[in-house]
Amino acid sequence: MRKEELYQVSTLATFQNRGYDGQLSIRRMLEFGNTGFGTFHGLNGEMIVVGGVVYRALGDCTLEAVKDSETTPFATLGFLGKKAPVVLDVYGNLTALKESLDDVIGDQQKLILSQISGVFEKIAIHSVWPQTKPYDELKKIVDDQDIYIYENIEGTLVGVHCPQSAEGFNVLGWHFHFISEDRQIGGHVNGLFAHKIEFIYDEKEVLTIIEA
Ligand SMILES: [Zn+2]
Repeated sequence: MRKEELYQVSTLATFQNRGYDGQLSIRRMLEFGNTGFGTFHGLNGEMIVVGGVVYRALGDCTLEAVKDSETTPFATLGFLGKKAPVVLDVYGNLTALKESLDDVIGDQQKLILSQISGVFEKIAIHSVWPQTKPYDELKKIVDDQDIYIYENIEGTLVGVHCPQSAEGFNVLGWHFHFISEDRQIGGHVNGLFAHKIEFIYDEKEVLTIIEA
């Protein structure tokens, strides 16, 4: 493990081609980082990793603990150290938040691991109920999930930004998963309205696929 690297399990192309079977144990995955996100074997919920702890958002966006013997088919994580946050007054939606973060990182081709904390006036998230074989297409599965909206909720977004060179490997641009401060609620972020936020980020040099 190198602190300059961002790690991932599998590739987006494989995952999107019904590659939902677990490839790597959570125990082993955690050797590669303390911050990130992904999903679990059979799409059993959205994964959020903060402070080295792995959470599962159930299909209704409530959180539960995860056994480290579980496996992941697709995840992205790395080490995010403690540092002074950049305070941003976004006062806007997800697009406005991304623009604010882009202004700070200064270059669309950077590979970034980050946390964004604050009280969100509104946030829309979803997760996934576990799937059984034969697996459906990812788009159909995601379209079938309910979106949950929370208001005035304090929490943290884990945010990864990938450059164009990550095409096929990971999600290009920004991708966020949310976890509430009380660790009760979480999921993949579909939309939000943010006010003042604190942005902590690390620029990574390279995106590395973990060998299972
Ligand atoms: Zn996601």
